[in-house]
Amino acid sequence: QAAARFHFVDAELLTDRLPKRARFAHKGTYGHALLLAGSKGKIGAAVLAAQACLRSGVGLLTLRVPAVGYDVVQTAVPEAMCLTDPTTDFLSELPDLAAYSAIGIGPGLGREKAPQRVLTQLLREVKVPLVLDADALNILAENRELLAALPPDSLLTPHPKEFERLTSPARDDYHRLELLRDFCQKHSCYTVLKGANTCLGTPDGTFYFNSTGNPGMATGGSGDVLTGMLTALRAQHLSPLDAALLGIYAHGRAGDLAAQKTGEAGLVAGDIVRFIGPALEELT
Ligand code: AMP
Ligand code: MG
Repeated sequence: QAAARFHFVDAELLTDRLPKRARFAHKGTYGHALLLAGSKGKIGAAVLAAQACLRSGVGLLTLRVPAVGYDVVQTAVPEAMCLTDPTTDFLSELPDLAAYSAIGIGPGLGREKAPQRVLTQLLREVKVPLVLDADALNILAENRELLAALPPDSLLTPHPKEFERLTSPARDDYHRLELLRDFCQKHSCYTVLKGANTCLGTPDGTFYFNSTGNPGMATGGSGDVLTGMLTALRAQHLSPLDAALLGIYAHGRAGDLAAQKTGEAGLVAGDIVRFIGPALEELT
């Protein structure tokens, strides 16, 4: 086992990791992301992830939602293409994946049999970087044999409860980090253990502790915003490490900039979305 190493994620660590926009760039330069998200009553999770994805520099975004989400998505996120599933309330079919440079799955997905099948088929067919969050992680926890099918370098974003469902209950914070290290090594994945001290675990056993964010971000939808950001950064061909570090730092920084305007209590996830651009701009 590799010895544990620790890094603090601040602006200095991120110097030169976010490529500048090229003068002659076009939208094809920045990738095409696919987000698979939402179910009846949770289309908002898909909308927040999509808005965050678009604010994180992606060239094109397609959002796959159940049919019930069509009008909502086309109204709330006109910049995204909306590819509706044939089923009304849940995702039930995996679309053709040929067009996409990264795929994010999970926000608001639900744990029904239908989205379970979609995730299973996705793990079999995917050939591009993958970001898994929320109910995609809960489905993995309920069907742990699927973990063996995780493509290497996948990026997972559990909060502590989701993480313990995927692994086992932690005795304390230190034990949780040991579980994180073992999980990332075993599955060759990058795992963002979210919370007040978000920690990124990596396949080589190195830990990265984030320095941004505030308790105002303890509000519904915050995590969906992070999923959209990470999917956008992976779609732009950043490495899993760079995407994860830039994503967690800029997400927290956007939350800090938002809280300066709204206060912590008044902050909602959509406010984080509005400050993603300024947070990323500080890093270029
Ligand atoms: P989720 O539970 O999936 O909505 O994710 C919550 C998001 O908000 C994660 O990115 C957390 O890191 C962030 N967050 C939640 N609570 C805090 C906190 N007390 N301080 C900083 N960030 C937080
Ligand atoms: Mg979440």
